[in-house]
Amino acid sequence: MKALELLAVDAYYGQSHILHGVSLEVKEGELVALLGRNGAGKTTTLRTAMGLLPPRRGRVVVLGREATHAPPHRIALWGVGYVPEGRRVFPYLTTEENLRLSTGKRPGPFDLKRVYNLFPKLEERRHHLGRQLSGGEQEMLAIARALLLNPRLLLLDEPSQGLAPLVVRHVAEVLKELRQEGVSILLAEQNAHLALSLADRVYVLDDGRVVHAGPATELREDPERVRALTGVRRR
Ligand code: ATP
Repeated sequence: MKALELLAVDAYYGQSHILHGVSLEVKEGELVALLGRNGAGKTTTLRTAMGLLPPRRGRVVVLGREATHAPPHRIALWGVGYVPEGRRVFPYLTTEENLRLSTGKRPGPFDLKRVYNLFPKLEERRHHLGRQLSGGEQEMLAIARALLLNPRLLLLDEPSQGLAPLVVRHVAEVLKELRQEGVSILLAEQNAHLALSLADRVYVLDDGRVVHAGPATELREDPERVRALTGVRRR
């Protein structure tokens, strides 16, 4: 079974046509990278997969279920964790209160103890308010919160954004571990180097269209091509 399928998806914000016939898939147990320059449509693609922006044309299938017009809370309960850009932690709840909002919704290996094990910093900061956490700690909190849902599919929007290299490495290790446990992952990243080091396969978006699809190894060995596909556009 596939964890996620987007089939010829067109998505709009109002009149603005953002995604043009986007088709992609994440097989069960795969880690797939979604690359592309600023504004290429990565966030929009994840929002469409999560039911936050229903497509105007095309279909979304999540974990074998028709998701094209399903609301986000239903998709989440099927086992889809979403780590949005900007983390969206509750600033006036403590770390632990933020986490407790996600516990007990779906059975599985991830509980508070397990996520504190993965992210010891969060346990140290369990009584701190969300707004008192550093960017790195907020990212860990956002990932931990998604894991507490015991997801079978995890959608991550630029988890490395604004993080110190050491934290990025830690997040990368956690993603590897999750993949080994069979969690399917779609990772949107501007940091192509990081994403390619983790991914099995990769899609590159540009102007809301898939302009490249293939195994990650191919691009790992061709930094020039990566730059051409995802670099700053020269006008
Ligand atoms: P970034 O790394 O900047 O988040 P991205 O690849 O995730 O880039 P999207 O955020 O999906 O790109 O944006 C795709 C396009 O949609 C951009 O041209 C952006 O300006 C436009 N866009 C995003 N959000 C909205 C919105 N709410 N209303 C109208 N246009 C939007």
